[in-house]
Amino acid sequence: MGFDYAPAPESRAVVDIKGSYGLFINGEFTPTIDGTTFKSINPATEEVLAEITAAGSSDVDRAVAAARTAYETTWGRMPGAVRAKYLYRIARLIAERSRELAVLESIDNGKPIRESRDVDIPLVSAHFFYYAGWADKLGYAGFGADPRPIGVAAQVIPWNFPLLMLAWKIAPALACGNTVVLKPAETTPLTALLFAEICQQADLPPGVVNIITGAGETGRMLVEHPDVDKIAFTGSTAVGRAIAKSIAGTRKRLTLELGGKAANIVFDDAPIDQAVEGIVNGIFFNQGHVCCAGSRLLVQESIAPDVLDALKRRMALLRVGDPLDKNTDVGAINSAEQLSRIRELTDAGSAEGADAWSAPCELPDQGFWFRPTIFTGVSQAHRIAREEIFGPVLSVLTFRTPAEAIEKANNTPYGLSAGIWTDKGSRILAVADKLRAGVVWANTFNKFDPTSPFGGYKESGYGREGGRHGLEAYLAH
Ligand code: NAD
Repeated sequence: MGFDYAPAPESRAVVDIKGSYGLFINGEFTPTIDGTTFKSINPATEEVLAEITAAGSSDVDRAVAAARTAYETTWGRMPGAVRAKYLYRIARLIAERSRELAVLESIDNGKPIRESRDVDIPLVSAHFFYYAGWADKLGYAGFGADPRPIGVAAQVIPWNFPLLMLAWKIAPALACGNTVVLKPAETTPLTALLFAEICQQADLPPGVVNIITGAGETGRMLVEHPDVDKIAFTGSTAVGRAIAKSIAGTRKRLTLELGGKAANIVFDDAPIDQAVEGIVNGIFFNQGHVCCAGSRLLVQESIAPDVLDALKRRMALLRVGDPLDKNTDVGAINSAEQLSRIRELTDAGSAEGADAWSAPCELPDQGFWFRPTIFTGVSQAHRIAREEIFGPVLSVLTFRTPAEAIEKANNTPYGLSAGIWTDKGSRILAVADKLRAGVVWANTFNKFDPTSPFGGYKESGYGREGGRHGLEAYLAH
C-alpha cells in the first residue's frame, strides 16, 4: 500500500503582484511611449497574473540612452570596490527576499516551488555574491593588468530559468563596469520586474540596470540598436542565428547560449539506482525545459532492461501537479505554445515507430501539462533523437562499446552538455575527453555553480557564462 501525501501548499500571500507593470528605465517604472500591452498568465491555472508592457522602439531608445549615460557618468568610472558594494547589497537582498522570489517564479513559470526555492533563487544570489567578489580583482583575472568594460550590454533571456538567466547576464556585466538593458521572455517577466524593485532598494544608480519587457520584436529592436556595444543572448538556435546575421559587419560583440540535445551515457558498471536518479534529474528537472537536459539516454545494451525497469518504477512515483505544492516534482509546461511543440515532436516519435511509455499520473484539468514520458526503440534518424523537445520526454538509445557510445553522443548538431555514469575513473576521463560538449558531468547531472563556466560547442552557441571565463565576455581586453 502506498502512502498518500497531504497537500503542502506554499503561501501565495508572500507576493504582491500588481495589476499592470510599466518599463524599468533609468531607475524608475515608466509607462510606454509607443508600445503595447500583453498578459502574463499562470501556466498551471491559465489565470491572468498581470498586464505587461511590450516596449516600442522609442522605449528601446530611452532604455539604451539611460544605460549609455549611466555608463559614461557613473558606473563605467566607478572603482571596482564600490561596484562590488552594490552587487553584494543586491545579493543580500535576493537572499532576504528569496521566499517571495521563489513563489513568484513558480507562479509565473510553472516550475515546482521545491526547485525555485532550493535551486533557482539560491543560485541567483550566489551568482551576485560570486561576481561581486571579482569586481575589484579584475586586474588579476588573466585579462591584462587593467581590463576595461565594453559599454552598454543588450541582454535577452528565455523563460525556463527566468531569474537565474538574468543573474548569469547581469552579475558579470555589472561587476566588469558595464551597464545593461535586459529583456526577459514574454511568458515570464514578473521576477525580472521584482528584481528591478530590488535594484531600487539597493540604491543602484539610475540607468545601470534597465528592464524592458516585450516579445521577440522588442528583443530584435534591442539587439539591433546602434548604440549597443555587446549582446548576450540565451534562447533558441534559430533566433541566435538570426541575431548573429543581423549584427555581422558591426563592431558589436556577441555571446550565444543556445539549445542542446545532451547524451546521458550509462555504462554497464554504473550503480544503477544512482544512475536512475541522475536520469530522472537530467530530464524531468524543470519539466525538461532545460537547455542542458539529458534528453538522450544512451544505455549499454546488457543493462538496458534493468535500467528501464528501474526507471519506470521511479517515474511512477513522480508527483506532477500544483507548482506551489512542496511535494510536487514536476510542474506545469510553461505555455500552450510549448505544450504544442512537445506534442508535435512526441507525435512524430510515435509516427516514426518509437514506443512511448508515460508515467501513470493524473493531470489537473486547467493549465498546461505533459506526463513524464520515455521513448524506447529510438533510432538516431528519428526526430526525437535529433531535435530539442524541451519538455519531460526522454529518448532512449542503446550501445555496445564505449566507442559506439561516444560516436552516438557526438552525433548531434548541438554540444552543450553530457553525462557519464560508470564506476571507473579512468573511463570517465577517457570518455569525457572525446565528448564535444561544453559541460560533462560524471556520476551526477544538472549541477550548477557560479564558479564553473557554462556554454556550448557547435549549434549550442559560443562564449562562456559563469566563473572567471564569464568575465571575458564583458571586458574589452
Ligand atoms: P526563443 O529564442 O524563442 O526566445 C528567447 C528570447 O529571445 C525571448 O526573450 C524572446 O522574446 C527573444 N526573441 C525572440 N525572437 C527574437 C529576435 N528576433 N531578436 C531578439 N530576441 C528575440 O527561445 P525560447 O523558446 O524562449 O527558449 C527556449 C530555447 O532556449 C531552447 O532552445 C533552449 O535550449 C534555449 N536555452 C538555452 C540556454 C543555454 O544556456 N544555452 C538556456 C536556456 C534556454
